[in-house]
Parts: sequence; structure tokens; C-alpha cells
Amino acid sequence: MLKKQVRVDFHIHSMYSSDSIITPKDLVAFAKKRSLDAIAITDHNQIEGALTLAKKIDLLIIPGIEVSTQGGHVVGLNVKQIIPRGLSVDETVDCIHKVGGLAVACHPFAWFKGSLGKNITGKFDAIETINSSSFPFFHCKKKSIKIAQQLNLPHVAGTDAHNPESIGLAYTVLEADLTVDSIINAILKKRCQVFGNPLSLSMRIKQKYARITRRK
Ligand SMILES: [Zn+2]
Ligand SMILES: [Zn+2]
Repeated sequence: MLKKQVRVDFHIHSMYSSDSIITPKDLVAFAKKRSLDAIAITDHNQIEGALTLAKKIDLLIIPGIEVSTQGGHVVGLNVKQIIPRGLSVDETVDCIHKVGGLAVACHPFAWFKGSLGKNITGKFDAIETINSSSFPFFHCKKKSIKIAQQLNLPHVAGTDAHNPESIGLAYTVLEADLTVDSIINAILKKRCQVFGNPLSLSMRIKQKYARITRRK
């Protein structure tokens, strides 16, 4: 039987992240508005938001985490426990695998973001080839696609949203059923395609502003 197509934004920060203003209500409203079937919550170095929201809202949540490593940010998808920050990239990828997650090289070439750059290895499970918040967007996209091709790894896309309007600007279309396992499997089998646009200038300013106001 043919699987159906599902549309997923794999990189969203919820209000449980210290730098995001996205509420549970926003997640549901913007997911609907942007025709998303599921989203991944990937808060910085914490998992509480992803686990709480998965139970709380009427939308399929892929639990995740964005880990600050010694060599740049790494996203773990299908991760339900804290992956310690401050480890090497290699150790972090191993930790994610140990708990049954997928290690994604997120925004690998973005400026000002703590990106992996040359620290990407073939041990990753996927490359985030489109990240709406990355700057300069087209340069990052081109370099990320190139490394994904060189390493023969699947592509995923996400917005790295910290404010509601950004949700769903980038998305991955997968041949999968609407379950976390089926979606994760579709990534591993490369049954996925990426789409997406950069944040507009006004969205970038809002995103920055959200971080500043949240830090107070
Ligand atoms: Zn990041
Ligand atoms: Zn992020």
C-alpha cells in the first residue's frame, strides 16, 4: 500500500526554550495555517517542552533537542531525554544514537549560529539542507546540499522558528504515515524532499527581538 505524504517542519523552538515566544496555541494555529501535519520541537539543551507539548496539543509532535556541542549545534530527533551539552560532536552523535534518536547536522554553514562547518562527519543521519533562519540563506543551502550529496545523507528542512510567523516557512515532505516512527523511518530511507524560503527581514528582526525580550 502506498504511504501518504506528510509535511513536517523539523526545527521549532517552543516557549520552553529561553529564546522563543511560541506558545502551544501558536503551534497548532500556524501548523494548520501552513498545512503542516507534524512538527519537531527542538529546544536548546532541554526536552521538557517537547514532552509536555506532545501530550498537551492536538498535533503530532516529534520530540527533539538542539544540543550545544564543542563543535557546533546538533539536533537530535526522536529523542525523549536530555543529551548533555558541551560534549564533542562525536560523543553527542553517539549519545543521540544510544537513545534511539537521529542526529541531524542543523544549519551547518549558517553565520552567527554556532554551526558545525567542517565538524560534520558521515556519522550523522541527516543534514538540515534548508533552515529558514540561516544567513546568508542561499549560500548556506548550496553548501549544505553539497555536503549532503558528498556524504550521501538524507536532507531535512526546518525553520528554526523562535516566533510564530516563521513556523512552516521551510518543510520536509515525506512518504510516511502520520506517526513518529514512520516519519523517522522515511528520513532514514531518504523518502523525503525539502522545500522552503528564508525568513523575511522583518521576521528576522522579530526573531531577534523575541530573544532579547525573553532574556530580560
Ligand atoms: Zn542552532
Ligand atoms: Zn534552533
